[in-house]
Amino acid sequence: MPKDMDALLRGLAGREDRVVALQSALTACPALGPDNGGDGEEAKAALITQWLEACGVTDILRIDAPDARVPSGQRPNLVARIPGKEKRTLWLFGHMDVVPPGDLAAWQSDPWQVRREGDLLFGRGVEDNQQAITSMLLLAEELHQRHVVPQLSLGLVFMADEETGSAYGLEYLLKTAPELFSKNDLYIVPDAGARRGDVIEVAEKGQLWLKIRTTGVQCHASTPHKGRNAFLAGADMALACHNGLRAAFGDTNTLFNPPTSTFVPGKHEANVPNINTVPGSDVFYVDCRLLPQVDPQAVLDKVRALASEVEERHGVQIEVSVVQQQAASSVAETSPVVIALGAAVARVYGVEARTLGIGGATVAAQLRQRDLAAAVWSCLASTCHQPNESSSITATIKDAQVFTHILMNPAHV
Ligand SMILES: [Zn+2]
Repeated sequence: MPKDMDALLRGLAGREDRVVALQSALTACPALGPDNGGDGEEAKAALITQWLEACGVTDILRIDAPDARVPSGQRPNLVARIPGKEKRTLWLFGHMDVVPPGDLAAWQSDPWQVRREGDLLFGRGVEDNQQAITSMLLLAEELHQRHVVPQLSLGLVFMADEETGSAYGLEYLLKTAPELFSKNDLYIVPDAGARRGDVIEVAEKGQLWLKIRTTGVQCHASTPHKGRNAFLAGADMALACHNGLRAAFGDTNTLFNPPTSTFVPGKHEANVPNINTVPGSDVFYVDCRLLPQVDPQAVLDKVRALASEVEERHGVQIEVSVVQQQAASSVAETSPVVIALGAAVARVYGVEARTLGIGGATVAAQLRQRDLAAAVWSCLASTCHQPNESSSITATIKDAQVFTHILMNPAHV
């Protein structure tokens, strides 16, 4: 093994205390976006900037998205670059924002104060996404302390607003400064993964969120024949979506878990407050996750056809509208970033990683849509958004070692 890489890997292996210190300080800065009732990511961005500067990183760009809802008036995005022997860059992405703790009674300790139990740290954000941020900072620090110039250049991106849509985060960054990113670079989003580190996410289903509004005629519940029950028609429509869409778009693709498109009627708006009124209006939503081969327009056409049948059966009007839409995205399993990750994971974790597609959405989709080959990988237990969210100190260090392998030895890339 080359001397520099060996020094970095050994150095990282002894950084347990540093993981605890970084995670504790990050967790004490509750970076909640304004949609989640918080002041944004400013304090956390300042903390990260201080650390990067202490690591001798001089090339730090701030690309702030204006947002009048937070006290600083902006949502910070940081791009730190450490030059390597090659211009080609390994990019790592971590989001600074976190989600609210939820029910405090379900937490065994203060969510904003890190608690340690053996190898595990507990607190809001420790896994999602501070494990990535900590690995990224450990790597920068180790390069600095050992005076190592990496083979590839290293790009560290710390983003705002991942949890509430990314419009002020990566989306803004990619719109404002697309010149930072080149098609030849490697992109890793360490924001999902498996407990043994053996899953590389290479594809995401398309998203189509629909709002279904049914309009009938309100009346007294003792004389239902005088009205048109919008709730009953809406319920019929929900079942029609549940059964009809699964039947029409039942293809499978074994890369994905689950292997089919999914169609889930879920959110339902309140209608009348009292029992003895037949509601004249009903609104529910359908969350559709579509395999790449499924055309969202075909799904929409099918939903409208189902709506016509329900309109006829119940004498109501149904309006179908799109709330949000995102195309499916993928990176080739043979792309350099996936191959490099597979090789590095095998060395550090001693496992053979498999590729997987998911129904969820990460910022990798935004990179892939711009033709930037992004893989999603990390070693984690998937406790994100839960009470008592946790992160493994060992995994945080090993993740940094995986990035080190790719950064220092891209021969197999
Ligand atoms: Zn996340």
